[in-house]
Amino acid sequence: MEKISLFEIFKIGIGPSSSHAMGPWKAAGDFLNKFFSHNGSFKNVVGLKVELFGSLAKTGTGHGTDKAIIMGLTGAEISTFDSGQLIPSLEKINSEKKISLLGKYFIDFNPELDILFNRETLRPSHPNTMDFTLILSGDKQEKATYYSIGGGFIQRKGESRILVDKAIIPYPIQTAEEMIQWCEVEEKSLDEISMANELCWHTKFEIQSYLDSIWEVMEHSIYQGCHDSGELPGGLHVQRRANVLNNKLFFDKSYNSQSEWLALLKKEPRSMDIVTNWISCFALSVNEVNASCGRIVTAPTNGSAGVIPAVIMYLLCFHDGISQQDIKKFLLVSSEIGMLFKKGATISAAAGGCQAEIGVSSAMAAGALTFSLGGNIRQILMAAEIAMEHHLGLTCDPIGGLVQIPCIERNTMGAMKAITAAQLALHSDPNSAKVSLDDVIKTMWETAKDMGMKYKETSEGGLAIQVSISLPEC
Ligand code: SF4
Repeated sequence: MEKISLFEIFKIGIGPSSSHAMGPWKAAGDFLNKFFSHNGSFKNVVGLKVELFGSLAKTGTGHGTDKAIIMGLTGAEISTFDSGQLIPSLEKINSEKKISLLGKYFIDFNPELDILFNRETLRPSHPNTMDFTLILSGDKQEKATYYSIGGGFIQRKGESRILVDKAIIPYPIQTAEEMIQWCEVEEKSLDEISMANELCWHTKFEIQSYLDSIWEVMEHSIYQGCHDSGELPGGLHVQRRANVLNNKLFFDKSYNSQSEWLALLKKEPRSMDIVTNWISCFALSVNEVNASCGRIVTAPTNGSAGVIPAVIMYLLCFHDGISQQDIKKFLLVSSEIGMLFKKGATISAAAGGCQAEIGVSSAMAAGALTFSLGGNIRQILMAAEIAMEHHLGLTCDPIGGLVQIPCIERNTMGAMKAITAAQLALHSDPNSAKVSLDDVIKTMWETAKDMGMKYKETSEGGLAIQVSISLPEC
C-alpha cells in the first residue's frame, strides 16, 4: 500500500509547474547529493549532461524545466529559494557557461548544449523521464534516470519510496470506502484520521507549524497576485487580471497592508455577483503568481495551485467564525482526499490530462469545504465525487507550453465547481448516490489511459494547436 504524507501533497515551491519544474529541480539536486554522499568526488567531475524525454521535452521550455534543473544542480532549495533571484542566477550561469555543483565545485556547463530536449523519444516507464549523466575523469560516467510523477513527486529508477513506505500508519487507506470505514468504526472525523496518520512521520508541533506555513504562503500568493500588474512572462502577452478585478471590486476602498486588505474582504457584501467575482480573483491571483515563477503551494500541483486557496479564502471571508484551526483542518481533509487520487489514479497531467490537476484539486476542495460546513464523511466524499465527475476527460493542452492558457482561468472553474459540489452534497443523501468516489477515481484512471498523448501535457493537441501563436525562443 502506498503511503503519502500531507507534506508531499502540499509543498512550498516556485512556479510554474510541479511536474515540469519542481520535480526536475528536486531530481537534479537528489542526483548530485546521492553521488557525492556515496564517495563520489567533485575533483573527478569533468562535465554533466541532462536529457529530457516525452512531455518534459515537449513542454519543458514553456514550463521552465531547464531552468529548474539548473537551479537544482546548484543545490538551491526550492522551498526557501528567493524567487526574485531566479533570473539573475540563471543569467550568470548562461553567460559564464559555468555552474557550481551544489554550490561547491565549478565545472564548465553550457545549458544550451548540456540539457537536451529529446522530443522524438518517449520512454515507456513514464512520460516525464530525465537522464542525468556525470562525466568523470578516466572515461567514466555516473548515470541515473528519474521520473517526475506529478505534483512535484519524483522517483529514481530502481528505488522505491523507502522512507515513507516503511512507516506503519494507524489508518491505512487506499480507497474512499476504507476512509469511510475508518471514520465510522473509529468514530473519528477525517481531519483526526489524517492527523493520526501524519504523526507517524512528524510531531504534532511540526504538522501544525507546517500547516500554518502552507496557509501563509497560499494567502500571500493571493494577496501578491491581487497587486502585481502587467504582462506575464513567456511571450504570450497575457495580461494579469487579478489586479484589475481586485481594483474594480475595491474601487472605493483603501488599505496599507495584507491584514487591512483581508479585513475589508471580510466586510464585503455577500451577493452572488460579488462573491463569485472574488473567488475568481483569488484563483486567478495564485495562478498568475505561479505563471510568473513566484512562490506558491502545490495543491496538489502548481498548475492547479489556485483552486484550494480560492475556496479557503471564500470560506474565510464569506462565512462567519472561521479560525486558523479551521483552515488547518481544511488542509488536512483535502490532503487526505488528494492521496486517494494519487494512489488510485494519478495527479500527473502527463499521465492523465488536466482532470488529474484541476479535477483533483477541485475534488479535494469540494470534500474539505463540505467538511468545514458540517458535512459527514459520506457527504464529504460525495462532494469530492461530484467535483471530479464533472472534470472527467478534461485534457491538458497549454498554449505555447506555458502554464497560462487555459490553466489560469481553469482554476476559477475548479474552485466554483468545488463550491457547487459541496452545496449539492450537503443537501443530498449520500446513501442514495449512484456513483461512489471510488467509481469516479477508477473512471478517471481508465479515461487517462484512453486519452491520446497529444492531450497529456505535450502541447500537440487541442487549444495548443488550434490557437497558433509563435513564441520567441527563450
Ligand atoms: S491545462 Fe491543466 S494540466 Fe495542463 S498545464 Fe494547464 S493546468 Fe496543468
